[in-house]
Amino acid sequence: MDTTELLKFDREHIWHPYTSTTDPLPVYAVKRAEGVYLELADGRRLIDGMSSWWCEVHGYNHPVLNAAIEKQLHEMSHVMFGGITHQPAVELAQKILAIAPRNMDKIFFSDSGSVAVEVAMKMALQYWYAAGREKKKHFMTLTKGYHGDTWNAMSVCDPVTGMHGIFHGCLPVQYFVEHPKCRFGSSCSAEDIRPFQECLEQHHETIAAVILEPIVQGAGGMWFYSADYLRQVKEWCDKFDVLLICDEIATGFGRTGKLWAVEHAEIEPDIMCIGKAITGGYMSFAATMTSARVAEGICSCNPYVFMHGPTFMGNPLACAVASASVDLIVSYDVERKVGAIEKQLREELAEAHNFPQVEDVRVLGAIGVIEMKEPVNMGEIQAMFVKEGIWVRPFGKLVYIMPPFIITPEELHCLTTGLKKVVSQI
Ligand code: PMP
Repeated sequence: MDTTELLKFDREHIWHPYTSTTDPLPVYAVKRAEGVYLELADGRRLIDGMSSWWCEVHGYNHPVLNAAIEKQLHEMSHVMFGGITHQPAVELAQKILAIAPRNMDKIFFSDSGSVAVEVAMKMALQYWYAAGREKKKHFMTLTKGYHGDTWNAMSVCDPVTGMHGIFHGCLPVQYFVEHPKCRFGSSCSAEDIRPFQECLEQHHETIAAVILEPIVQGAGGMWFYSADYLRQVKEWCDKFDVLLICDEIATGFGRTGKLWAVEHAEIEPDIMCIGKAITGGYMSFAATMTSARVAEGICSCNPYVFMHGPTFMGNPLACAVASASVDLIVSYDVERKVGAIEKQLREELAEAHNFPQVEDVRVLGAIGVIEMKEPVNMGEIQAMFVKEGIWVRPFGKLVYIMPPFIITPEELHCLTTGLKKVVSQI
């Protein structure tokens, strides 16, 4: 099919994320991808600044990941997980639990980040149901959060910036606390934590769990907050008998400069969701982990089982590639590798502070954010980035990059140079 035909059919029939089918923004046809490069159908090569939404940490077409998936393909690509287990799942579970926060003891595999969040929320509800605390049916979260697009995940996304405002009135009502203003690297004062503390004090009898993105609030605002705040959140949750669910779907596997964002605060969550980079971006896959206490609680009372079991749970192809991806992560010395990207991002993006269009510049780990004063025109800015040979997809006022960890200093320099050029021109 030639590219014109392909784009025409796409435009007329295919939905893309958060887009109109009647007046869609242009899309770009990618024919292959290698390392940090996306190759467009017309042969242009773009440095990928997005890691395909946080996933592609090792770059595209990685020989080790390709080999893992090919090998597994010849054994079995899928088998049901009900009543069956297999080496790829067991190996992956062993590897992840070995590097997860110490208290994580059980792992539930699922097919996407949103499902991992649904699973986490159901686990929290079943835990309190089993404990005879049936009033604990609600969740508390922070504004500017994002946890996915399924029903309960939507209910804990920011009502305004979380993209799901239109569904309010239909979704379960949850408790929202103003997100922390204290930045990453600063301490958290009594004033900063007060809204959180007060909400828990008032409503803990009906709250099953607090759910939040540790340290980095992603799609709801690209905001980096104080590790001290997170530490205090954990203390208050423990004090008021409320579980803490940490959604590490975007932050996990090194993105923030630590293997897990919770490490910045030296806390251990009760339930933790992981996804995105788990397979190095090869397939849709995710997991929800719990402490033994939570798992035992859930299974201690009628129905004595956890009530969830997706068709593609523990898919062997996904497990095999995830296993190889975790090996690569472990081989990297993530703190050093991501630390070098962080240093370069800080140095090279600092100049954007001086642009009159720019409100704020912030960097943490392999994430660089330029917050504009006004929302950007997505179609226009996207075309400008492509012209510069880079792939960056902003939303609202946020222009941000989170490159693959294998990016070279030269490639990263091209990416930040193109980024600053475009930002200075709009
Ligand atoms: N939680 C967080 C923090 C996310 O960033 C995302 C995806 N952007 C999700 C959950 C949902 O993951 P998925 O898109 O795989 O359903």
